[in-house]
Amino acid sequence: MCIFCKIVNGEIPNQTVLEDENFLAFNDINPARKVHVLIIPKEHYDSFDVMPPKVMAGMTEFIQKVASKLDVKNSGYRLITNIGDDGGQEVHHLHFHLIGGEPVGRLVR
Ligand code: AMP
Repeated sequence: MCIFCKIVNGEIPNQTVLEDENFLAFNDINPARKVHVLIIPKEHYDSFDVMPPKVMAGMTEFIQKVASKLDVKNSGYRLITNIGDDGGQEVHHLHFHLIGGEPVGRLVR
């Protein structure tokens, strides 16, 4: 079982930010900025690349709620999902990084 599935089933502790029936948001263990939250579907998908598009609809709504709860809607934030080796993905359970709480700089010019 993957590490994020173990977080979902409670085998590994996490600092939960928001949870519902289908999704979980928790603090990244190694934060890149003041705010660094991982948002995952409870169901296992290896990456965004194999995620059924219909799951994204619920995920979008959930991510927007997480942003509200973290109070970053006005200041802004960055969403990232790494996919596969070239994308730098280390944990092969689909997750979005929500990063902010301070300027995150430019990645793509
Ligand atoms: P990625 O490189 O996109 O696969 O990112 C994986 C992220 O998971 C990294 O930012 C790690 O710091 C984070 N991470 C790994 N294990 C845990 C954990 N047990 N709790 C919280 N975050 C974790």
